[in-house]
Amino acid sequence: MGIKVAKFGGSSVADAIQINKIKNIVDADETRKYIIVSAPGKRFDNDSKVTDLLYSCMMHKEHNLPFDHLFQVIWDRFKALAMNLKVGGDIDREFEIIKESINQGTTHDYLASRGEYLNGKLIAEFLGMEFVDAAQVIKFDNRGKFLLEETNEALKERLKNIDKALIPGFYGAKPDGSIKTFSRGGSDITGALVARAVNAEVYENWTDVSGFLMADPRIIDNPEPIEFISYSELRELAYMGASVLHEDAIYPAKVGNIPINIRNTNLPDDKGTIISDDLSKCQSRVVTGIAGNKDFTVLAIFKNRLSQERGFIRRMAGILEDMDIPLEHMPSGIDTLSIVMQTSSIDGRIDELVERVENELKVDRVEVVDNIALVATVGSGMSSRLGVSAKLFTALAEAKINIRMIDQGSSEINIITGVENKDFERAVKAIYDAFHEEKISR
Ligand code: ASP
Repeated sequence: MGIKVAKFGGSSVADAIQINKIKNIVDADETRKYIIVSAPGKRFDNDSKVTDLLYSCMMHKEHNLPFDHLFQVIWDRFKALAMNLKVGGDIDREFEIIKESINQGTTHDYLASRGEYLNGKLIAEFLGMEFVDAAQVIKFDNRGKFLLEETNEALKERLKNIDKALIPGFYGAKPDGSIKTFSRGGSDITGALVARAVNAEVYENWTDVSGFLMADPRIIDNPEPIEFISYSELRELAYMGASVLHEDAIYPAKVGNIPINIRNTNLPDDKGTIISDDLSKCQSRVVTGIAGNKDFTVLAIFKNRLSQERGFIRRMAGILEDMDIPLEHMPSGIDTLSIVMQTSSIDGRIDELVERVENELKVDRVEVVDNIALVATVGSGMSSRLGVSAKLFTALAEAKINIRMIDQGSSEINIITGVENKDFERAVKAIYDAFHEEKISR
């Protein structure tokens, strides 16, 4: 029987009620052997995440503001947790050590990591599992660069003789032992690393939603759940704003060929979404998901015989690089090239950009189009299938939505349409209505 690695996110470990739910989940399956936890997250809408409170303490300290009150809030929260779970005899001692380290000028990373560290200790005791400090097994180099293979080896070595272990997420250590964290939401990465190291049958990522939905539920009522999604489809959807999982969690799972199963701690019977390349055969729909974002600016460049000119795109990209403006998409025609950027990244410098393009590239005309939204229609079932784009564009035309731009990557799993911001929600709806029932015929 294979091993399961289960990572529980902030909302799943926010208080004793949630932690009791995770105990039931862990106890229900003997093969759930390695558990990764986040720091306690929000218990209700206006609540604070422990990690945010810890960062905030550090900011207070740096600005010479009193932080005792804030620190006490975190301390009390852990004390209540320990009391309700009937564990954590040495919690006060741990807090004294942490407070002392703040007074001695500790780092942001050390302090931020304490949420996962303390929560890990309490939950390990509650579940009766061995606590393995991530500082011993998640490796960074002296400059803080994450070391994937060293970590894999260290995890393998450490876990090989431990039947059941709990590892706190989000942090590791540099060779001198100083703590280094991943970026926010990084416990997902720890989970994927552990899953790869123990060659898990599945990496379960437990959160507060039952996986991915075909579209944003704020736009579509009750969208269909996504049962299976490939890593590349997920990359495309995540890039366009559909986020449940930290982006960097995908790579370790992908190289280890470990499927990721997004599950809901509050509805443990839901199957959730399975992310895996092998399972793309199981996908039943032509379109897997629809996601998008508003507020892009398009620079449409016209130049006679543009396609014949050597180095044009390189020089264009050079201007963007020089101005530090990321390029999102670049659809092109025979004598035209469109540059799609996030409006916020231009930061009031559009006139400068246009002037540089006109002067340095000697173009015939440049047009600036603002207030563009991009909608990505993603599905590996779309590739080499006739009529998908026709159906998509017909749906938009019937909804009387003007398409300002089209971009289809060469992988054919994503068609991006640019529409006006005001039409964004209607465009998502039109595409959803056209495709949500369309199954792949085998
Ligand atoms: N606690 C960290 C955060 O809030 C890491 C995590 O939960 O994954 O970002």
